[in-house]
Amino acid sequence: MSAEKSHRLPDTVIPVRYELKLTPDLSTWTFAGEEKVELQVREAVREIVLNAAELELQSVRVKTAQGKILSGQTALDSENERAVLSFAEAVPAGAAELRILFSGILNDKLHGFYRSTYKGADGQDNPLASTQFESTDARRAFPCWDEPAFKAVFQVTLVVDKKLTAISNARAINETVLPGTDKKEVVFADSMKMSTYLVAFIVGEFEATEPVMIGNAPLRVCVVPGKKHLTPLAIDIGKASLEHFSSYYGIPYPGDKLDLIAIPDFASGAMENLGAITFRETALLVDAERATRAELERVADVVSHENAHMWFGDLVTMKWWNGLWLNEAFATFMEMLAVDAWKPEWRRWDSFTVSRAAAMQVDGLKSTRPIEFPVERPEEAAGMFDILTYEKGASVLRMLEQYLGAEAFRDGIRLYLRRHAYANAETTDLWDALEESTKEPVRALMDSWIFQAGYPLISVEKLPRGLRLTQQMFRYLQDGSAPERRWHVPIFLRAATDAGVIEKTILLTEKEQILDLGGPVQWAVVNAGAHGFYRARYDGDLLATLKDALPTRLSPVERFSLVNDAWASTLAGLSSLTDYLDLIGLLSDENDLNVWTTVIGSGYHLERILDDRQSTELKNRMRALLGPATARFGWKLRAGESDLESQLRGDLINALGVLGDEPECQSRVRDLFALYETSPDQVERNLIPALVSIVAHTGKAAEYDKFYRRFKNAETPQEETRFLFALANFREPELIEKTLELTINGEVRTQNSPYLMRGILLNKSARQRAWTFLKAHWDEMSRQYPDNAIPRMCEGIVGLVSPELETDVKEFFARHPVKQGTKQMEQHLERLRVAVACQARWRDLLCA
Ligand SMILES: [Zn+2]
Repeated sequence: MSAEKSHRLPDTVIPVRYELKLTPDLSTWTFAGEEKVELQVREAVREIVLNAAELELQSVRVKTAQGKILSGQTALDSENERAVLSFAEAVPAGAAELRILFSGILNDKLHGFYRSTYKGADGQDNPLASTQFESTDARRAFPCWDEPAFKAVFQVTLVVDKKLTAISNARAINETVLPGTDKKEVVFADSMKMSTYLVAFIVGEFEATEPVMIGNAPLRVCVVPGKKHLTPLAIDIGKASLEHFSSYYGIPYPGDKLDLIAIPDFASGAMENLGAITFRETALLVDAERATRAELERVADVVSHENAHMWFGDLVTMKWWNGLWLNEAFATFMEMLAVDAWKPEWRRWDSFTVSRAAAMQVDGLKSTRPIEFPVERPEEAAGMFDILTYEKGASVLRMLEQYLGAEAFRDGIRLYLRRHAYANAETTDLWDALEESTKEPVRALMDSWIFQAGYPLISVEKLPRGLRLTQQMFRYLQDGSAPERRWHVPIFLRAATDAGVIEKTILLTEKEQILDLGGPVQWAVVNAGAHGFYRARYDGDLLATLKDALPTRLSPVERFSLVNDAWASTLAGLSSLTDYLDLIGLLSDENDLNVWTTVIGSGYHLERILDDRQSTELKNRMRALLGPATARFGWKLRAGESDLESQLRGDLINALGVLGDEPECQSRVRDLFALYETSPDQVERNLIPALVSIVAHTGKAAEYDKFYRRFKNAETPQEETRFLFALANFREPELIEKTLELTINGEVRTQNSPYLMRGILLNKSARQRAWTFLKAHWDEMSRQYPDNAIPRMCEGIVGLVSPELETDVKEFFARHPVKQGTKQMEQHLERLRVAVACQARWRDLLCA
């Protein structure tokens, strides 16, 4: 396509090996660089075009295969982030060597080569520098062919202060103090052949843990001083997941070492640079003795995810950004697999249903997109890092794996990795490998999920000898615009007939299919195990029999799906709110964390939609539902209970105190919080989030000041974010003002401020004021915050549920488009539309 082509580099000149030397200056936030790139010139050229942004190129020379030196003129094209190097005579075809001297800045936008700070033991801010290149920011650090298909070898040298540590993708092979200076030169080994977005350099005062060997590669965790005691969990899951992947993929870890590095300022969760994975601190460092189960799981998840990328992403890479899903969906899938193997008692695949449901929430919108999507300009690549790429992608892979069988699926993955190692691949290459190893028509099945947006609603109807299944697209907005689409749907069926319980898998490819089960069906589940990326809707009889015996006929994940699908139908207006409330009313005996997560989530969603009169009735209903469950679990650990049950206790108390506004629960929580302040170890760790959230919900200035101080003086990354984000939940007007001020006054790291702002927008007592504040400070926020965080912050607008606010929000974003997140912004606005429509539809319900 020509439009795409104009944004792509010509392939007449190919980089083969970069020698890169960088000298960062952490006092002036600048760096000097020189690079020598071995090239393969495919046809004689007078111009070499490559990427560069925010760089100055001081000198450009090419040495031809014949040994002739040609000087180049540089023209920078800042619009397209390119440098055009032109030469007085043609560079002939064959090998050549390009040398460039350049300089750049260590920026504060958490991309490219950027600066960060941390507090030293003396309380002073100390500097460090790190990189974040994905998708297209390597070009801010050195001139390069910054597209994933231009794989090359990188040999990095860093010149840094003697007392600092320098880290890059490969092992350091030589370190020399430069005579007469306070600098040293650190030379790293050649990397494997890889894409530019995976290159990394990190410079600062780092401490590393003792290496643990993974095959021949040492694994370490690197932290700024004073944080080493927070690393044992990362090492544990780091080792376990790498070993798991080596065996699953049938290929040893591809690098020569692996450092997991905690960076105090970090825009996303983590980044899979080969051999030098960078993380935000909450995703790597944790006090394993004091953190909650959910906090431990987050570290396990992110470490496993990044480690999975060392093969899927780094060793085999997508050809272009439209194939990003291949990297991310797969790493997300593998993350679950590794964490599930490491801690089976966490039932990680069951809790993945919560992520799947979140993806279905976005994918049920008109403004969704297919998983694989054409990408032309760099900012469009940035927009691909969303729930559809990660969670929907991983869900459809899980569905495929369950359909094909785990071993057959793994064999196909092994074949794919072996075939494309050190190279690039496209979606179709994965289907080729899976078809070859399983002999199943994988492509036809998966094309319907990867290239079509949305998903089906499967209607299930009872017939005299079986069932009729019908598929139609699910949409929240029922405005008649849903296109006629079909999917190849693996139906995981479990049905009870007079002859017993039948379990089988059927591929539904037509709009409708009749299943002859030999006689009348008593009850049926069409998404058994909840692996399918679709919703189910049972006819009256079938639903009634399921509801009669929820705990025995449905497994926990199936109960989750039933509730979640019912809630989606309610929002879509396909069923009534009263029916939904009756359904969840059956769940007071429920003991599963995930089922409660969806019930409680829908409660908060309702709270944002309903008006004050209705809220009173909602609170009553929530107390009636949550009260008995909370009483059943009690307030103390019970002998032999699982980690998931301990977490559920905390979640139930939290919901009872906030959503149910139950005074007795709130007062008990305040007492426990007082105990936590004096003797933290006497309070069960999984209760702490509930204490913090309820104390904020009911808190005044004194509690606010306490929380603010705890945020400022936190001992762990988890404690810091827990107290920081809780500031968004206070409800007194002057406290809301204080929190709003914190989002822009520089006290909060820009990696966190956008999420603090999102929290205030979602606080019903604060939302109106927060929206006014956001509009007034939009330019400052856009300037200060990392680009990728702006559309995520704006998710908070889904809380602005009123027709007047909706109109204002739409007008504002029409005037202030968020170009790096066009799709996400459309989705937030549509979710707001759905909520406002429900508000109108439910106006007369729940009024006492
Ligand atoms: Zn990833």
